[in-house]
Amino acid sequence: MRATDNRYKGERNRFELAMRMIRLEARTGTIRYWTNLSDDRIRKLYNSYFKFIDGAPIRRRRGKSPTQIGPLIRSSARSLESGVFVNMLLANGLFSIEHPPGPRLKGNVNLGHRFCQCFETHRMTVPQPTLSFEWGWNLLRNIRRGDELRLAHCDVCSIAYVYDQLQVPRGDCPACLTLRKVPGRHAPIRHTAMG
Ligand SMILES: [Zn+2]
Repeated sequence: MRATDNRYKGERNRFELAMRMIRLEARTGTIRYWTNLSDDRIRKLYNSYFKFIDGAPIRRRRGKSPTQIGPLIRSSARSLESGVFVNMLLANGLFSIEHPPGPRLKGNVNLGHRFCQCFETHRMTVPQPTLSFEWGWNLLRNIRRGDELRLAHCDVCSIAYVYDQLQVPRGDCPACLTLRKVPGRHAPIRHTAMG
């Protein structure tokens, strides 16, 4: 009986995560990755609960998730926004600097919910956020791979931001850079990578 209860609970958790991700406009492949549900079951969930909502129905995102990094660091504002999100992912254990890349994510329903929580918090705390769920997922995967994007922490202004480690010379801290553009303000350039 208990085994049946546990199985039911596990199944229900996976469905709840899929529903949460559909609401956040995740792509089918992303939902499949986190929940291990089949495309067919995800499609049925969407059709049963989201397709015919009054007002603005939730769009079903098809195709592949974005993988480019350019838009995540295109401007100072983007680098800083990405930094806020990555800092939150780090604090929530979605990746690790000491033991990269961190915990296994595939089929990890608890961490899937935590990732959703990070994204929802990000949208509430960042003024005019530009990061979508899929771009946030792309950012997490990239930072876990550790071969392109990295999180840095500025020694001068203490802010966290994301930069491309392959870019030479490395750009200045975007927050200090913005400050330097204000006449009469001069901020020194120093950086410390966090991993
Ligand atoms: Zn700075």
